Amino acid sequence: MEFSDVADDIESVVLTPEQIAEGVARIARGIEKDFPHSTPLLIGVLKGAVMVMADVARELHIPIEIDWMAVSSYGQSTQSSGVVRIVKDLDISLEGRDVIIVEDIVDSGLTLSWLLENFSSRQAATIKVAALLRKPDAMKVDVTVDYLGFDIANDFVVGFGLDYAESYRNLRGVGVLKPSVYST
Ligand code: 5GP
Repeated sequence: MEFSDVADDIESVVLTPEQIAEGVARIARGIEKDFPHSTPLLIGVLKGAVMVMADVARELHIPIEIDWMAVSSYGQSTQSSGVVRIVKDLDISLEGRDVIIVEDIVDSGLTLSWLLENFSSRQAATIKVAALLRKPDAMKVDVTVDYLGFDIANDFVVGFGLDYAESYRNLRGVGVLKPSVYST
């Protein structure tokens, strides 16, 4: 889906598909540099990371493996609480593996910090983090993003895997929604 398909819903464009491709390449070059001789295990968190994972995985010139996890935050709040329930666990053992968590966006960082702790308790050899987007102004906990696409402003964005009420995930770019979309 293009921005022109949802022109009435998007207030501003944050990243075009071309810019996203640059961010994806930046992430992939960083991973290749750090893992020239091992086969890292890329772990995506469903559903938002699907597009980032697909593009980063295909951009890489080294062998990798892929696994997925689905989590949900406890509590009814739309704000991330940092307390996470595993809805779908990994299929592949992390023991002795070089793990790279692939995220669409790091907002408060609470989900990521929970994942880092959980994965280190499973005896991964190394754990790195790749994220297409980061909101530095929103971060509540200090988590390192080793491979970053872009820092963005503290707005709610959709597209390239990120949804509002499950829509807009298939938008090729990333944009800010018009307030009218929330109020209807
Ligand atoms: P955190 O634990 O870092 O606060 O939250 C991470 C998750 O919140 C992301 O994986 C994503 O699902 C969701 N999220 C955070 N910011 C945004 C945003 O701007 N747009 C959308 N669609 N989801 C977001």
